Amino acid sequence: MSQKRILVIDDELLLRRALADYLEECGYQAVTAADGAEGLATVRAEHFDTVLVDLRMPRVDGLEVVATLKAEQPELPVVVVSGTGVLQDVIEAVRRGAWDYVTKPVRDMDEIIVIIERVLERARLIAERDRYQQELENLNRALEITVARQTEDLRTQNRELTALNHIISAADATLDPVEILRVLCTELALALSLPHVIATLADPDGLALKTVAEYCRYDRESLLDRAITLTEPAVAYVMEHQLPLFIEDAQQDSRLRDRSAAMRRRQTVTLLLVPVVVRGHVMSILGLETTVPRVYNDQDMTLIVNAAAAAGQALEALKLHQELRAHADALEETVARRTAELSVALKQAQAADEAKSQFLSSVSHELRTPLASIRLYLGLLSQGRIEHRQRYLESLAREIERLQVLIEELLDISRLDLEKTVPQWQPVDLNTLLATLAEDRTRLFTERGLHLHLDTAAELPTIAADPALLEQVATNLLTNALNYTPPGGEVWLRTTAVTHEAQPWVIFKVKDTGPGIAPEEQEQLFERFYRGEAARVSKAPGTGLGLAISQGIVSLHHGRITLESTLGQGSTFSVWLPCDRAMRDA
Ligand code: ADP
Repeated sequence: MSQKRILVIDDELLLRRALADYLEECGYQAVTAADGAEGLATVRAEHFDTVLVDLRMPRVDGLEVVATLKAEQPELPVVVVSGTGVLQDVIEAVRRGAWDYVTKPVRDMDEIIVIIERVLERARLIAERDRYQQELENLNRALEITVARQTEDLRTQNRELTALNHIISAADATLDPVEILRVLCTELALALSLPHVIATLADPDGLALKTVAEYCRYDRESLLDRAITLTEPAVAYVMEHQLPLFIEDAQQDSRLRDRSAAMRRRQTVTLLLVPVVVRGHVMSILGLETTVPRVYNDQDMTLIVNAAAAAGQALEALKLHQELRAHADALEETVARRTAELSVALKQAQAADEAKSQFLSSVSHELRTPLASIRLYLGLLSQGRIEHRQRYLESLAREIERLQVLIEELLDISRLDLEKTVPQWQPVDLNTLLATLAEDRTRLFTERGLHLHLDTAAELPTIAADPALLEQVATNLLTNALNYTPPGGEVWLRTTAVTHEAQPWVIFKVKDTGPGIAPEEQEQLFERFYRGEAARVSKAPGTGLGLAISQGIVSLHHGRITLESTLGQGSTFSVWLPCDRAMRDA
């Protein structure tokens, strides 16, 4: 530890010296001054740790020294030396700033050392306290600066988070991209104190951008629904580089040449263009305008870019949502269609099943009737009267014939159903086929009092067909005409060739002057086992299978049967057969 320096100010030379010597003895470095003025000069010139000053001195006395030092060096301990009995002086000295006092005559020099050590310790403590305080103040100042900086950072972050939060909430609450862009404009305008922020979207033809949303301060002219061409250099730059573009002087900048007049009129000073990128494409461009010079710092740019990115993500989510929706709708539609198809198929299957059961029960019924008759006549033959035997035999033969016809027709139907009827395709001239048939039947018709006319087309194309099957169809139709037309009637067998819907056809018709068929009956005529009014009236034998079989055969020939009939005015059945089918794919 360095030696402490003590200044002894006293006008009494002996005492001054004695004190100095004693202090030196005790390890201090002592300097003396003969009066107050000298003492003050010495203190001002050199460093001291303590000053011992006599109160009563000529010229500048001790009290003045105390007051001056208190003012000039408050941290320097001053100890006053006073005569006994002048306590008043000591009190005054302490009031003016003396740290301690010693009374003269000094009897015990050690007392002075104790006092000096005490004030030195106090001075040290005070110095230490001041140093701590200083340090504390420094720390405090540093802390204040840090807090201020962090507060500013937080404010910036908060501004950004609030804007982002609003954009994300808007995206959650709406399915409208324009609404998301509107929130984006508003948030940027509020966060950055801008008078006007616009957002554009590409118009449907993709040639221009249109302003679809904006934040527009009350004193600004709205820019909604304005078109902005993509060829404008500033816009083209943002589209191509997908980066923001800052234009410091919007009225002069050549990159806004198309709009410089508008910029002047609108008093726009700076313009910041920012892309909103969705799936690698610029979906929207934002325009941030100011009417005063403006610079965007790093935090501003971070906020702008992050907000645009958040809006981009929201728009992308929206796009995805819409795509998913469309997909789900398409899927739903497919499912609905398939369900409908399946239900139709199910109904058809059920109807087919029902038809099968119906068919089986009709078959058993139809078989049972002739069988019952046969059994009856067999009984009568053995037990009945002998003179009736011939009649019974005839009836028996008729029932057996009926049974045979029925079984033949059932076999035909079942072969058609099981697709076991394989047509023997060959070129057929219908005129010849029908002429033979008519010739064979003419006698029968005459016997029934009917006229059968044959009226064939002059040049009828040959068709690919199975002649035996076609003969069966013609026979069925002729038999019906024969059975259901009352005596005196006429029956025509006609052939014609027509082209219908670009398709050449050969048609043969069986026309009669019989009872005709009611419209409600016409719908059921081709059903199996259906026997109509004419059958009931005429009591003609039949099975109700003829027309069903005929239709099956004509279908095999890729043709169709049509019927024109008016009740009371006869019926015409027409068989349409396509005539351009090659033999191999007939
Ligand atoms: P079937 O003649 O054995 O009764 P079809 O299937 O040939 O069976 O005919 C079904 C029904 O159609 C007949 O029972 C009859 O009522 C009606 N029908 C068929 N041809 C004629 C016709 N030319 N005139 C009036 N009714 C007819």
